[in-house]
Formats: sequence, structure tokens, C-alpha cells
Amino acid sequence: MVTAVAQRLASQRKEIDDTLATFTLSTTQLQEVKAKMRVELERGLKKDTHPTASVKMLPTYVYRTPDGTERGKYLALDLGGTNFRVLVVKIRTGMRNSVRMYNKIYAIPLEIMQGTGEELFDHIVQCISDFLDYMGMKNTRLPLGFTFSFPCNQTGIDKGDLVSWTKGFKATDCEGYDVVDMLREAIKRRNEFDLDIVAIVNDTVGTMMTCAYEDPKCQIGLIAGTGSNVCYMEEMKNIELVEGDEGQMCVNTEWGGFGENDNIEDIRTRYDREVDGGSLNPGKQRFEKMTSGMYLGEIVRQILIDLTKRGLLFRGRITERLKTKGIFETKFLSQIERYSSHLWHKLRSILQSLGLDSTCDDSIIVKEVCGAVSRRAAQLCGAGMAAIVDKIRENRGLDHLEITVGVDGTLYKLHPHFSTILKDTVRELAPNCKVDFILSEDGSGKGAALITAIDKYLYAMRFS
Ligand code: BGC
Ligand code: MG
Repeated sequence: MVTAVAQRLASQRKEIDDTLATFTLSTTQLQEVKAKMRVELERGLKKDTHPTASVKMLPTYVYRTPDGTERGKYLALDLGGTNFRVLVVKIRTGMRNSVRMYNKIYAIPLEIMQGTGEELFDHIVQCISDFLDYMGMKNTRLPLGFTFSFPCNQTGIDKGDLVSWTKGFKATDCEGYDVVDMLREAIKRRNEFDLDIVAIVNDTVGTMMTCAYEDPKCQIGLIAGTGSNVCYMEEMKNIELVEGDEGQMCVNTEWGGFGENDNIEDIRTRYDREVDGGSLNPGKQRFEKMTSGMYLGEIVRQILIDLTKRGLLFRGRITERLKTKGIFETKFLSQIERYSSHLWHKLRSILQSLGLDSTCDDSIIVKEVCGAVSRRAAQLCGAGMAAIVDKIRENRGLDHLEITVGVDGTLYKLHPHFSTILKDTVRELAPNCKVDFILSEDGSGKGAALITAIDKYLYAMRFS
């Protein structure tokens, strides 16, 4: 009798372990991911392979990082992360560390994120209007930098056609259109104030610029948040989509699309496929769906549903709660993983707050599931980052590279282990690079202002 119970427990344990083992990546597998990422980076840069590349390597028309001479007063928008924000950014003359910001967060209701493009941009302009009133600035025509955290085909610093929506956005009649035009038209429709839209900026680029303002060695920007993406300073001669061979330009990799050509199917699990299938953009952003905050909780939920169906969890009962999309936000994963298993009562109360009734064993299993999913995410980001830093090192013909990555994003900031595992992986897979990571405070908004400042300056130079 006792042995029968012990045997059943052991076999249940084995089933759970086997499931989680599909999320374990060996060093060899990670090296493969790095090598494949490298291939895709090259394919994105080359004219003939660009159209079919999974990693788009989009030119940003940002030619340099800040040098500390930037100054002025700017308006910035930050759309596409956890919050939508409108900001005023003041950069004082010739001094680093002298940026002041005022900002307000606005909600973007789901029906607007997934309504029509006109409604979305009207809503944005309505928020700007509210902000200008709030700041008493309706009559000052400020230059604006627009951080727009989606892939855009840019042909200039203030021109960018939206390639496709990602994350939770799906407004109609935007894909293929110039985002700056859509914003200008919405400002015209409202007919209440005027703005000079100077720059459209990906959040990775804003983050890199903000960190580079403090540390000139920062030439890479990473977002590990709701979405996942990287930008870095590439040699102009390697960017075949843009004329000219001199100097550098920042490239927005859009590495979230990695895997769209089926080249990482060997490491995707059935849970990844379920999450992809239930997403707004099936088949797209496969790497992002394995690495970013918007999807990790969904992977966890799919595993929990499966373990429950197999009678290994929650006494085999699938509750309505567990069937609810999006219940495991990044902040919950972070909380769950912050407690060690002997504090299972804490774990249990976190699960309780999510409406999940768990036993002590259940809560420990849930924590293991979260750990397996977030560890793989951090390792995959690390493997991708290793490909980037080695490419930069080779670009410069160096045996050894020292470089800094500016980072932003809720996953990186809130999760207790993500950043450590990411760094360990980069160290292991790119041993010839010494990579420092610095957190950007408010990167997207500040960075948009810095880019706007640089461009205003270049503009003034050209016509002076
Ligand atoms: C977008 C990127 C963005 C990243 C982080 C992705 O979904 O495609 O443009 O940088 O999210 O916000
Ligand atoms: Mg952001």
C-alpha cells in the first residue's frame, strides 16, 4: 500500500520533471541559437536577403550617441510599453546628468488598442492636449520626439512606416502607413495646437541613447519588458539598405521576429505553439513570445493547464481563473520566484490572490514552472546578445571588446533572476567580450528628447 503511493508520487514527479526538461537548454543548444541569430543579423542587413529575413535590422537614422552638448526643451511620447506616457524633457546646456522630466501616464483602453487607427491617434492627441493643459503649455510649439515601440521601416529620422503591430496592439489601417503622418493628421483634425515632430524612435534606441548620455561605452540598447528587442551601433558599410559607407548608424534589430522562418522549431515546445496560436499575431514574433513579459505568464498558464489536465496539479481541477488569458503578469512571476520553496505559504497566498487554490505541493510546482520558463527566456536573450556583441567585436577587428548595454523593461527590472541569468549566459557564450549592463531610468522618453536635440542641432547646422 505504502509502496503503491510512493510509486505513484515518484511517477508523477517524473512526469513533471520531463515536462519542465523541455525548457532546459544545454550550452550547445544555446551556442546554436547564438549562431543562428548571427546568420539572421547578416541576412537582415543584406539587400537581397532583407525582404525575407526574420530579423529585420531596420535603419534608424541615428548616426551617433549623445556627447553631452545636447540641450533644449522637448516634448516626448512613449507608446508601446507597459504605459503610455507624455513627457516634457529639459536638457541643460553642456552638462551631463542634467535632464529634468515631467510626465503623465495615460491608459490606452483595449478597445482603442484594437480599434481603428484614427481612434488610436485621436486618443493620443487627446492625451497630449490634456498634458499641455496640465503643464500650462498649450501655446508653446515644442519639438517632439515620438518613441513608438513597434517595427518601422524608416527612410529618415522623422519617417517610419509601421511594418506590423506587435504585443497587444492591433489598430486597423496603420500597417504600411507612416506613423508620423498619422500623428500629424490627428493633430490637424483636433486643430487646437501645433507640434514639430522631429523624430520617431524605437524604445531600444531611446534606451541606448539615454544610457550613452551617461556612459559613452554604451552602444547597445536592450528592452526586456512587455516585448523584447535590441538595437546597436552598426557600421554604415554593412547596412546595405542605406547609401553611404562612412561612419555608423544605429540598427533596430527587431530580434523578436527571430524564428519566423522555422529555424528554432527544435527548441519550441507545444506550450510555445499554444501561446502563439492564441496570440494576436500567430506565427510572428516567435522569439519575443519565448522571451518577453507579455508571453511568459501565458506559457506558464499553458503548462499549468496541461499539468492539471494530467492530474498532476490543483487536484486535477481546471478553474475558470486558470482559463483566463493574461492572469500571470510579469509582476506575479517575479513575486512567485522571489520566495524560496520553504516559504510555500507565501507562494500559496500569491496564488490565492490570483484566485488559484493550491496545496503546498502545488505552489512549489507552480514556482518550478515559472523558474523553468523565465530561465529559458533569460538564456535565449543572453544567446542573442552574445551574437550581437561578437558581431560588433568582429566589425571592429578586435580580439577583445568592452561594451555597455543600456537596458530597460519590466522583466529585467522586476524579475529576481532574469538579469543574472542573462549576464551569465552572455559571459559564457561571448568570452571575448566584457559586457556591462546599465539600467536606464526612464529611457524611452529621455532618449527621444536626446535624439530630437541632436537632430534639431544638425538641422540648425545645415541651414546656418
Ligand atoms: C517591438 C519592438 C520593441 C519591443 C520592446 C517589440 O514587440 O516589435 O519594436 O522594441 O517590442 O518594446
Ligand atoms: Mg518602454
